Amino acid sequence: MDNWATLDQTYIMSTVTRLPITIDRAEGNYLYDIDGNRYLDLFTGLAVNILGHTHPRLMETLVEQGNRFLHISNLFHNPPAIQLAKRLVEHTFTKGKVFFCNSGAEATEATIKLISKWTDLKQNGRHGIVVIQNSFHGRTLGALRLTRQPGVYQNFPQLSFPVFEVPLNDTEELANICREKKPAAILVEPIMGAGGVICLAPAYLKMINQICREEDMLFCVDEIQTGVGRTGTLFAYQDYDIHPDVILFAKGIGGGLPIGGIIGNERTADLFKPGDHGTTFAPSPLSAALGNTVLDLLLDDGLMKTGRETAHYLWRELEKLCKEFPHIFNYMDGKGMMIGIRTHLTANEVNHFQRQLLERGILVNVTAQTIIRLLPPLTLQHREVDSLIENVRELIKTS
Ligand SMILES: *Cc1c(COP(=O)(O)O)cnc(C)c1O
Repeated sequence: MDNWATLDQTYIMSTVTRLPITIDRAEGNYLYDIDGNRYLDLFTGLAVNILGHTHPRLMETLVEQGNRFLHISNLFHNPPAIQLAKRLVEHTFTKGKVFFCNSGAEATEATIKLISKWTDLKQNGRHGIVVIQNSFHGRTLGALRLTRQPGVYQNFPQLSFPVFEVPLNDTEELANICREKKPAAILVEPIMGAGGVICLAPAYLKMINQICREEDMLFCVDEIQTGVGRTGTLFAYQDYDIHPDVILFAKGIGGGLPIGGIIGNERTADLFKPGDHGTTFAPSPLSAALGNTVLDLLLDDGLMKTGRETAHYLWRELEKLCKEFPHIFNYMDGKGMMIGIRTHLTANEVNHFQRQLLERGILVNVTAQTIIRLLPPLTLQHREVDSLIENVRELIKTS
Protein backbone atom coordinates (compact mmCIF):
# COMPACT_ATOMS: atom_id res chain seq x y z
CA MET A 1 0.00 0.00 0.00
CA ASP A 2 1.45 3.33 -0.91
CA ASN A 3 -1.00 6.17 -0.58
CA TRP A 4 -1.82 6.01 3.10
CA ALA A 5 -3.32 9.50 3.16
CA THR A 6 -5.92 8.63 0.51
CA LEU A 7 -6.74 5.28 2.09
CA ASP A 8 -7.05 6.98 5.47
CA GLN A 9 -9.59 9.46 4.07
CA THR A 10 -11.47 6.66 2.32
CA TYR A 11 -11.75 4.23 5.20
CA ILE A 12 -11.41 6.08 8.48
CA MET A 13 -14.03 8.53 9.72
CA SER A 14 -12.45 11.94 9.68
CA THR A 15 -12.66 13.07 13.28
CA VAL A 16 -9.13 14.53 13.31
CA THR A 17 -6.99 16.64 11.01
CA ARG A 18 -3.79 14.66 10.67
CA LEU A 19 -0.24 15.78 10.00
CA PRO A 20 0.94 14.70 6.53
CA ILE A 21 3.14 11.96 7.92
CA THR A 22 2.86 8.17 7.98
CA ILE A 23 4.81 6.57 10.79
CA ASP A 24 6.82 3.47 10.07
CA ARG A 25 8.49 2.91 13.44
CA ALA A 26 9.73 4.65 16.54
CA GLU A 27 12.76 4.31 18.76
CA GLY A 28 13.83 6.22 21.86
CA ASN A 29 12.80 9.85 21.50
CA TYR A 30 12.33 9.62 17.73
CA LEU A 31 9.64 8.74 15.23
CA TYR A 32 10.55 7.52 11.71
CA ASP A 33 8.21 7.94 8.75
CA ILE A 34 7.88 5.59 5.78
CA ASP A 35 10.27 7.79 3.77
CA GLY A 36 12.96 7.34 6.40
CA ASN A 37 12.67 10.84 7.88
CA ARG A 38 13.36 11.15 11.59
CA TYR A 39 11.40 13.36 14.01
CA LEU A 40 12.27 14.33 17.56
CA ASP A 41 9.04 13.46 19.38
CA LEU A 42 8.08 16.34 21.66
CA PHE A 43 4.44 15.22 21.68
CA THR A 44 4.82 11.64 22.95
CA GLY A 45 1.53 10.42 21.49
CA LEU A 46 -0.37 13.06 23.46
CA ALA A 47 1.36 12.62 26.80
CA VAL A 48 1.39 8.83 26.59
CA ASN A 49 4.96 7.73 25.80
CA ILE A 50 6.38 9.31 28.93
CA LEU A 51 9.61 7.25 28.56
CA GLY A 52 9.91 7.62 24.81
CA HIS A 53 9.49 4.65 22.48
CA THR A 54 10.69 1.04 22.68
CA HIS A 55 12.38 1.46 26.06
CA PRO A 56 14.27 -1.86 26.49
CA ARG A 57 12.79 -2.48 29.94
CA LEU A 58 9.26 -1.92 28.65
CA MET A 59 9.93 -4.24 25.71
CA GLU A 60 11.17 -6.91 28.13
CA THR A 61 8.00 -6.63 30.20
CA LEU A 62 5.88 -6.72 27.06
CA VAL A 63 7.33 -10.07 26.01
CA GLU A 64 7.44 -11.53 29.50
CA GLN A 65 3.82 -10.70 30.38
CA GLY A 66 2.68 -11.40 26.80
CA ASN A 67 3.97 -14.94 27.17
CA ARG A 68 2.13 -15.38 30.46
CA PHE A 69 -1.32 -14.09 29.48
CA LEU A 70 -2.73 -11.14 27.58
CA HIS A 71 -6.24 -11.17 28.98
CA ILE A 72 -8.06 -13.14 31.66
CA SER A 73 -11.19 -11.01 32.43
CA ASN A 74 -11.81 -9.54 35.85
CA LEU A 75 -13.15 -12.81 37.19
CA PHE A 76 -9.72 -13.71 38.57
CA HIS A 77 -7.07 -12.15 40.78
CA ASN A 78 -4.74 -10.39 38.39
CA PRO A 79 -1.20 -10.05 39.88
CA PRO A 80 0.19 -7.27 37.65
CA ALA A 81 -2.93 -5.15 38.24
CA ILE A 82 -2.90 -5.76 42.00
CA GLN A 83 0.77 -4.77 42.17
CA LEU A 84 0.12 -1.62 40.17
CA ALA A 85 -2.87 -0.66 42.34
CA LYS A 86 -0.84 -1.21 45.52
CA ARG A 87 1.96 1.03 44.28
CA LEU A 88 -0.38 3.76 43.06
CA VAL A 89 -2.12 3.83 46.44
CA GLU A 90 1.16 3.77 48.38
CA HIS A 91 2.43 6.75 46.42
CA THR A 92 -0.72 8.83 46.91
CA PHE A 93 -2.89 8.05 49.93
CA THR A 94 -2.30 6.53 53.36
CA LYS A 95 -5.25 4.28 52.61
CA GLY A 96 -7.09 3.83 49.35
CA LYS A 97 -8.11 1.66 46.42
CA VAL A 98 -7.97 1.74 42.64
CA PHE A 99 -10.61 1.17 39.99
CA PHE A 100 -9.13 0.31 36.58
CA CYS A 101 -10.50 1.07 33.13
CA ASN A 102 -8.98 1.53 29.67
CA SER A 103 -8.87 5.25 28.96
CA GLY A 104 -9.14 8.75 30.31
CA ALA A 105 -12.77 9.30 29.40
CA GLU A 106 -13.61 6.05 31.16
CA ALA A 107 -11.82 7.33 34.25
CA THR A 108 -14.08 10.39 34.10
CA GLU A 109 -17.12 8.13 33.71
CA ALA A 110 -16.03 6.12 36.74
CA THR A 111 -15.64 9.36 38.69
CA ILE A 112 -19.17 10.46 37.76
CA LYS A 113 -20.56 7.14 38.96
CA LEU A 114 -18.50 7.27 42.15
CA ILE A 115 -19.78 10.77 42.90
CA SER A 116 -23.29 9.52 42.22
CA LYS A 117 -22.73 6.78 44.81
CA TRP A 118 -21.48 9.38 47.28
CA THR A 119 -24.56 11.55 46.68
CA ASP A 120 -26.79 8.57 47.25
CA LEU A 121 -25.01 7.51 50.41
CA LYS A 122 -24.80 10.97 51.97
CA GLN A 123 -28.36 12.14 51.36
CA ASN A 124 -27.20 15.63 52.31
CA GLY A 125 -28.97 17.49 49.54
CA ARG A 126 -25.74 17.85 47.57
CA HIS A 127 -25.86 16.95 43.91
CA GLY A 128 -23.85 17.73 40.79
CA ILE A 129 -20.28 18.49 39.85
CA VAL A 130 -18.35 21.76 39.59
CA VAL A 131 -15.90 22.06 36.69
CA ILE A 132 -13.77 24.90 35.39
CA GLN A 133 -14.54 26.84 32.25
CA ASN A 134 -12.71 25.39 29.23
CA SER A 135 -11.72 22.24 31.11
CA PHE A 136 -11.23 18.92 29.30
CA HIS A 137 -12.24 15.60 30.89
CA GLY A 138 -13.00 13.37 27.90
CA ARG A 139 -15.43 12.75 25.05
CA THR A 140 -17.91 10.01 26.01
CA LEU A 141 -21.56 10.75 26.64
CA GLY A 142 -22.23 8.97 29.84
CA ALA A 143 -22.79 5.56 28.23
CA LEU A 144 -24.76 4.40 31.20
CA ARG A 145 -27.65 6.70 30.44
CA LEU A 146 -28.25 4.56 27.35
CA THR A 147 -27.78 1.19 29.03
CA ARG A 148 -31.25 -0.15 29.91
CA GLN A 149 -30.49 -3.23 31.98
CA PRO A 150 -32.11 -2.53 35.33
CA GLY A 151 -29.40 -4.31 37.32
CA VAL A 152 -26.78 -2.16 35.66
CA TYR A 153 -28.26 1.35 35.74
CA GLN A 154 -30.78 1.15 38.59
CA ASN A 155 -28.21 1.65 41.35
CA PHE A 156 -27.40 5.10 40.01
CA PRO A 157 -30.45 7.32 40.40
CA GLN A 158 -28.26 10.43 40.44
CA LEU A 159 -26.91 10.17 36.93
CA SER A 160 -28.81 13.12 35.50
CA PHE A 161 -26.52 15.33 37.53
CA PRO A 162 -26.21 19.09 37.17
CA VAL A 163 -22.90 20.57 36.02
CA PHE A 164 -21.71 23.92 37.34
CA GLU A 165 -19.11 25.78 35.31
CA VAL A 166 -16.93 28.30 37.14
CA PRO A 167 -14.35 30.75 35.76
CA LEU A 168 -10.73 29.80 36.39
CA ASN A 169 -9.08 31.05 39.59
CA ASP A 170 -12.21 32.94 40.72
CA THR A 171 -12.40 31.92 44.38
CA GLU A 172 -15.46 34.01 45.15
CA GLU A 173 -17.60 32.53 42.41
CA LEU A 174 -16.53 29.05 43.43
CA ALA A 175 -17.45 29.67 47.06
CA ASN A 176 -20.85 31.04 46.03
CA ILE A 177 -21.66 28.06 43.82
CA CYS A 178 -20.55 25.56 46.46
CA ARG A 179 -22.63 27.20 49.17
CA GLU A 180 -25.74 28.08 47.19
CA LYS A 181 -26.08 25.36 44.52
CA LYS A 182 -24.90 22.58 46.83
CA PRO A 183 -22.86 20.50 44.37
CA ALA A 184 -21.47 17.16 45.57
CA ALA A 185 -18.01 17.39 44.01
CA ILE A 186 -15.40 19.44 42.19
CA LEU A 187 -13.33 18.04 39.33
CA VAL A 188 -10.24 19.95 38.15
CA GLU A 189 -7.11 19.47 36.07
CA PRO A 190 -4.28 20.85 38.28
CA ILE A 191 -2.75 22.07 35.02
CA MET A 192 -5.29 22.46 32.23
CA GLY A 193 -4.05 20.54 29.20
CA ALA A 194 -6.25 20.80 26.12
CA GLY A 195 -7.47 24.15 27.45
CA GLY A 196 -4.04 25.62 26.69
CA VAL A 197 -1.60 24.43 29.38
CA ILE A 198 -2.61 26.68 32.25
CA CYS A 199 -1.47 26.11 35.84
CA LEU A 200 -4.25 26.64 38.35
CA ALA A 201 -3.17 29.18 40.95
CA PRO A 202 -1.83 27.38 44.06
CA ALA A 203 -4.09 29.52 46.26
CA TYR A 204 -7.09 28.50 44.14
CA LEU A 205 -6.25 24.81 44.52
CA LYS A 206 -5.89 25.27 48.29
CA MET A 207 -9.22 27.06 48.39
CA ILE A 208 -10.90 24.20 46.47
CA ASN A 209 -9.38 21.78 48.95
CA GLN A 210 -10.66 23.82 51.88
CA ILE A 211 -14.16 24.34 50.54
CA CYS A 212 -14.50 20.60 49.83
CA ARG A 213 -13.70 19.91 53.48
CA GLU A 214 -16.01 22.63 54.83
CA GLU A 215 -18.95 21.67 52.63
CA ASP A 216 -18.36 17.91 52.75
CA MET A 217 -17.80 17.69 49.00
CA LEU A 218 -15.50 15.39 47.05
CA PHE A 219 -12.33 16.88 45.59
CA CYS A 220 -11.40 15.09 42.35
CA VAL A 221 -8.22 15.81 40.38
CA ASP A 222 -7.96 14.86 36.72
CA GLU A 223 -4.30 13.83 36.39
CA ILE A 224 -4.82 12.05 33.09
CA GLN A 225 -2.38 14.38 31.32
CA THR A 226 -0.41 15.78 34.26
CA GLY A 227 0.23 12.46 35.98
CA VAL A 228 2.95 9.81 35.88
CA GLY A 229 5.89 12.12 36.46
CA ARG A 230 5.17 14.54 33.65
CA THR A 231 5.24 17.63 35.84
CA GLY A 232 8.08 16.48 38.10
CA THR A 233 6.12 14.61 40.77
CA LEU A 234 4.23 11.34 40.31
CA PHE A 235 1.01 13.38 40.26
CA ALA A 236 0.92 17.14 39.79
CA TYR A 237 -1.26 17.78 42.87
CA GLN A 238 1.60 16.47 45.05
CA ASP A 239 3.48 19.70 44.49
CA TYR A 240 0.76 21.58 46.40
CA ASP A 241 -0.52 21.26 49.92
CA ILE A 242 -3.84 19.73 48.85
CA HIS A 243 -5.58 16.42 49.52
CA PRO A 244 -7.92 15.15 46.82
CA ASP A 245 -10.41 12.34 47.40
CA VAL A 246 -10.21 10.94 43.87
CA ILE A 247 -7.31 10.95 41.38
CA LEU A 248 -8.00 10.21 37.70
CA PHE A 249 -5.15 8.68 35.68
CA ALA A 250 -4.61 7.25 32.19
CA LYS A 251 -2.33 8.28 29.28
CA GLY A 252 1.25 7.77 30.53
CA ILE A 253 0.82 4.97 33.01
CA GLY A 254 0.65 2.05 30.54
CA GLY A 255 3.93 2.96 28.84
CA GLY A 256 2.06 3.22 25.51
CA LEU A 257 -0.76 0.74 26.02
CA PRO A 258 -4.29 1.75 27.06
CA ILE A 259 -5.10 1.77 30.74
CA GLY A 260 -6.83 4.28 32.96
CA GLY A 261 -8.47 4.45 36.31
CA ILE A 262 -9.18 6.28 39.50
CA ILE A 263 -7.58 6.13 42.93
CA GLY A 264 -9.90 6.74 45.86
CA ASN A 265 -8.87 7.65 49.40
CA GLU A 266 -10.54 6.42 52.58
CA ARG A 267 -13.63 8.55 51.86
CA THR A 268 -14.19 7.11 48.40
CA ALA A 269 -12.38 3.75 48.17
CA ASP A 270 -15.36 1.65 49.22
CA LEU A 271 -18.24 3.44 47.51
CA PHE A 272 -18.41 0.96 44.61
CA LYS A 273 -19.92 -2.41 45.47
CA PRO A 274 -19.73 -5.59 43.36
CA GLY A 275 -21.73 -5.05 40.17
CA ASP A 276 -21.61 -1.27 40.34
CA HIS A 277 -18.99 -0.77 37.68
CA GLY A 278 -16.65 -2.64 35.39
CA THR A 279 -15.52 -3.24 31.84
CA THR A 280 -14.42 -6.34 29.93
CA PHE A 281 -10.84 -5.44 29.17
CA ALA A 282 -9.73 -3.61 32.29
CA PRO A 283 -7.37 -4.00 33.91
CA SER A 284 -5.40 -5.31 30.97
CA PRO A 285 -2.67 -7.50 32.48
CA LEU A 286 -0.29 -6.37 29.75
CA SER A 287 -0.94 -2.66 30.33
CA ALA A 288 -0.73 -3.18 34.09
CA ALA A 289 2.59 -5.04 33.80
CA LEU A 290 3.91 -2.15 31.71
CA GLY A 291 2.56 0.23 34.35
CA ASN A 292 4.67 -1.50 36.97
CA THR A 293 7.76 -1.16 34.80
CA VAL A 294 6.97 2.53 34.18
CA LEU A 295 6.85 3.05 37.96
CA ASP A 296 10.09 1.04 38.42
CA LEU A 297 11.84 3.30 35.93
CA LEU A 298 10.36 6.56 37.24
CA LEU A 299 10.74 5.93 40.95
CA ASP A 300 13.44 3.29 41.48
CA ASP A 301 15.71 4.03 38.53
CA GLY A 302 15.47 7.80 38.96
CA LEU A 303 13.99 8.71 35.57
CA MET A 304 11.50 11.08 37.19
CA LYS A 305 14.39 12.96 38.77
CA THR A 306 16.38 13.01 35.52
CA GLY A 307 13.29 14.22 33.68
CA ARG A 308 12.84 16.98 36.23
CA GLU A 309 16.42 18.13 35.69
CA THR A 310 16.16 18.06 31.91
CA ALA A 311 12.85 19.92 32.12
CA HIS A 312 14.60 22.59 34.14
CA TYR A 313 17.19 23.00 31.38
CA LEU A 314 14.47 23.01 28.70
CA TRP A 315 12.54 25.77 30.50
CA ARG A 316 15.66 27.89 30.89
CA GLU A 317 16.56 27.61 27.19
CA LEU A 318 12.98 28.23 26.06
CA GLU A 319 12.73 31.28 28.28
CA LYS A 320 15.87 32.67 26.65
CA LEU A 321 14.29 32.05 23.27
CA CYS A 322 11.12 33.90 24.32
CA LYS A 323 13.25 36.88 25.36
CA GLU A 324 15.18 36.76 22.09
CA PHE A 325 11.99 36.83 19.99
CA PRO A 326 9.43 38.75 22.03
CA HIS A 327 7.46 39.70 18.90
CA ILE A 328 6.73 35.97 18.33
CA PHE A 329 6.66 34.38 21.77
CA ASN A 330 4.63 35.87 24.57
CA TYR A 331 5.08 33.74 27.70
CA MET A 332 5.18 30.14 28.89
CA ASP A 333 2.94 28.25 31.29
CA GLY A 334 2.91 24.69 32.56
CA LYS A 335 5.34 22.67 34.58
CA GLY A 336 8.09 20.10 34.00
CA MET A 337 7.58 18.28 30.70
CA MET A 338 4.19 19.91 30.07
CA ILE A 339 4.76 23.28 28.46
CA GLY A 340 2.51 25.75 26.69
CA ILE A 341 4.17 28.58 24.78
CA ARG A 342 1.83 31.52 24.23
CA THR A 343 2.56 33.23 20.92
CA HIS A 344 1.59 36.47 19.24
CA LEU A 345 0.83 34.47 16.09
CA THR A 346 -2.52 33.68 14.47
CA ALA A 347 -3.81 30.10 14.34
CA ASN A 348 -2.64 29.84 10.71
CA GLU A 349 0.80 31.15 11.54
CA VAL A 350 1.18 28.72 14.43
CA ASN A 351 0.18 25.83 12.18
CA HIS A 352 2.68 26.97 9.60
CA PHE A 353 5.34 27.17 12.32
CA GLN A 354 4.51 23.62 13.41
CA ARG A 355 4.77 22.33 9.81
CA GLN A 356 8.10 24.07 9.28
CA LEU A 357 9.51 22.57 12.46
CA LEU A 358 8.26 19.20 11.26
CA GLU A 359 10.21 19.65 8.03
CA ARG A 360 13.24 20.17 10.25
CA GLY A 361 12.54 16.92 12.05
CA ILE A 362 10.89 18.21 15.21
CA LEU A 363 7.37 17.35 16.27
CA VAL A 364 5.51 19.79 18.51
CA ASN A 365 1.80 20.10 19.17
CA VAL A 366 -0.61 23.02 18.93
CA THR A 367 -3.49 23.36 21.36
CA ALA A 368 -6.18 25.99 21.92
CA GLN A 369 -5.37 27.12 18.34
CA THR A 370 -2.39 29.37 19.01
CA ILE A 371 -0.52 27.74 21.86
CA ILE A 372 2.52 25.62 21.09
CA ARG A 373 2.35 22.63 23.41
CA LEU A 374 5.36 20.51 24.28
CA LEU A 375 4.87 17.15 25.97
CA PRO A 376 8.42 15.76 25.76
CA PRO A 377 9.45 12.40 27.17
CA LEU A 378 11.24 12.36 30.53
CA THR A 379 14.07 10.65 28.63
CA LEU A 380 14.78 13.86 26.66
CA GLN A 381 18.50 14.64 26.32
CA HIS A 382 20.20 18.01 26.71
CA ARG A 383 21.50 17.83 23.14
CA GLU A 384 17.92 17.32 21.96
CA VAL A 385 16.88 20.46 23.83
CA ASP A 386 19.75 22.27 22.10
CA SER A 387 18.61 20.94 18.74
CA LEU A 388 15.07 22.21 19.34
CA ILE A 389 16.30 25.66 20.33
CA GLU A 390 18.74 25.89 17.41
CA ASN A 391 16.08 24.83 14.92
CA VAL A 392 13.53 27.32 16.20
CA ARG A 393 16.12 30.08 16.11
CA GLU A 394 17.20 29.28 12.54
CA LEU A 395 13.60 28.93 11.44
CA ILE A 396 12.70 32.37 12.72
CA LYS A 397 15.82 33.98 11.32
CA THR A 398 15.36 32.52 7.84
CA SER A 399 11.62 33.15 7.50
C1 LIG B 1 -6.75 13.16 27.40
C2 LIG B 1 -7.50 13.61 28.57
C3 LIG B 1 -8.72 13.00 28.94
C4 LIG B 1 -9.37 11.93 28.10
O1 LIG B 1 -8.59 10.79 27.96
P1 LIG B 1 -8.90 9.77 26.78
O2 LIG B 1 -7.99 8.61 27.06
O3 LIG B 1 -8.59 10.47 25.50
O4 LIG B 1 -10.33 9.40 26.86
C5 LIG B 1 -9.33 13.45 30.08
N1 LIG B 1 -8.79 14.43 30.85
C6 LIG B 1 -7.61 15.02 30.52
C7 LIG B 1 -7.04 16.07 31.41
C8 LIG B 1 -6.94 14.65 29.36
O5 LIG B 1 -5.82 15.27 29.02
